[in-house]
Amino acid sequence: MSEILEVVVIGAGMFGAAAAKHLSRSGARALVIGPAEPEAGAPASRHAFGAYFDEARITRRLGWDPVWGTTDSRSLERFRDIEAESGIGFFHECGSLVLLARSIAHRTDAIVAQCAVEGIELDRLSEPALRAALPALGILPISGGVEGLLERKQAGYLNPRRLVQAQLSLAQAAGARLLRAAVTMVGKDADGTWQISIQDGDTTSTVHAHRILIAAGAFTNHNNVLPAGTRLALHAFSEPNLLFEVSDSQLEQLRHVPPVVTVDPDDLGDANLSLYLVPPVQYPDGKWYMRIGPGMQPYVEELRTVNDMVDWYARQEPTARQTASLTRMMNLLVPALEPVSVRFSGCIIEKTPSRYPYIGHLNGDPTITVAVGGNGHGARGSDEIGRLAARVLCGETWDSSIPQETFTPLLQKDEHVGERPGFLKPPFGLC
Ligand SMILES: Cc1cc2nc3c(=O)[nH]c(=O)nc-3n(C[C@H](O)[C@H](O)[C@H](O)COP(=O)(O)OP(=O)(O)OC[C@H]3O[C@@H](n4cnc5c(N)ncnc54)[C@H](O)[C@@H]3O)c2cc1C
Repeated sequence: MSEILEVVVIGAGMFGAAAAKHLSRSGARALVIGPAEPEAGAPASRHAFGAYFDEARITRRLGWDPVWGTTDSRSLERFRDIEAESGIGFFHECGSLVLLARSIAHRTDAIVAQCAVEGIELDRLSEPALRAALPALGILPISGGVEGLLERKQAGYLNPRRLVQAQLSLAQAAGARLLRAAVTMVGKDADGTWQISIQDGDTTSTVHAHRILIAAGAFTNHNNVLPAGTRLALHAFSEPNLLFEVSDSQLEQLRHVPPVVTVDPDDLGDANLSLYLVPPVQYPDGKWYMRIGPGMQPYVEELRTVNDMVDWYARQEPTARQTASLTRMMNLLVPALEPVSVRFSGCIIEKTPSRYPYIGHLNGDPTITVAVGGNGHGARGSDEIGRLAARVLCGETWDSSIPQETFTPLLQKDEHVGERPGFLKPPFGLC
């Protein structure tokens, strides 16, 4: 048999790249396997999809609950170090605004209290104060009114492509090897060694490893990267975004708008106003776009099969319902915006019934660990999620203030054919 590798990381996206860095720094010799981002217009592949193929992901320390608040804060505290060590900038500290319905003020009180414990500075803004502080923003017609939590420091957005690039370069500097290929099968030999089949273009090969870490994002259940018969409780959804091109004349007025996330607790179907807004960001085509995305309104549809997922990713075509809702929300939130053009960008998010990422062994086997389940907002906490996954894989003591069981991977017992999962009711939490 060929050499048996110490660790193989499957997936070189946000969680896999972070985990690979932390593993390598703790002395493990890791091989990271994952395809590169496909060229624009290249045929879609079930292996090459990544939820980080974009220029901006909202980042802040304030969390909907202490779990996400902690993973996000621990990561964000290290962003400047990652930039300095890798020489790759990715963090734009332009603040972050969360708009919450006043009807859930008890929830807002809890967030504010948690922020006080964490030392996160916030301004709690009434509607008049919001109008005065951010005149470019409209006040959303959420029943009972809204209030805002404005985090001015250590919040903004990150460039996920550049963060992944930074993490992979640091992993390689610490001794990891990166193989730009796809894993097509994972199985365990009789002697307990993992056998990993790899496809690189037309070439197939096999490597062997003592331990594996699976971080294949939304496609984890579909790409044979889990042992045969194992399926995680993980639901994939179409995530539609509209990008509104900002004219040169409006750029100055709008570029100071912070990223915005809203929480509308009313179960109004498509009319629910939960959303996220990314301020003007320059894309590879040289143009500046404001990007808007939904909460978990019903038009964010579940993608049940791998064909549905590949098709959604390849077609890049929104439904009429998605376009209508996102356009309405943009008009309400940034009423002055006169876009030069509007284009669509479709991505996939995956949700876990626990609402938290899965970080842990599968089936009690210490040789296999998963790091998956960003729940639509895993980018900002990815460095901490990767760090915890690396510790679990290496058998090191759990050192987070969040109990380890919070992240225990849940298996899907039966073939999922039911209706929309019940845990996806408003309020959806913070994107
Ligand atoms: C439209 C959109 C907006 C978002 N906005 C935010 C935001 O504002 N803030 C935030 O924090 N998060 C946001 N997110 C979520 C965030 O991007 C994801 O949670 C994060 O990328 C998840 O990381 P991951 O490593 O689990 O998956 P990914 O980043 O998708 O990486 C998975 C990797 O696994 C690889 N892979 C798959 N199959 C195989 C295989 N068989 N072999 C080898 N490799 C394989 C893929 O190629 C991919 O590179 C958003 C996501 C979307 C789609």
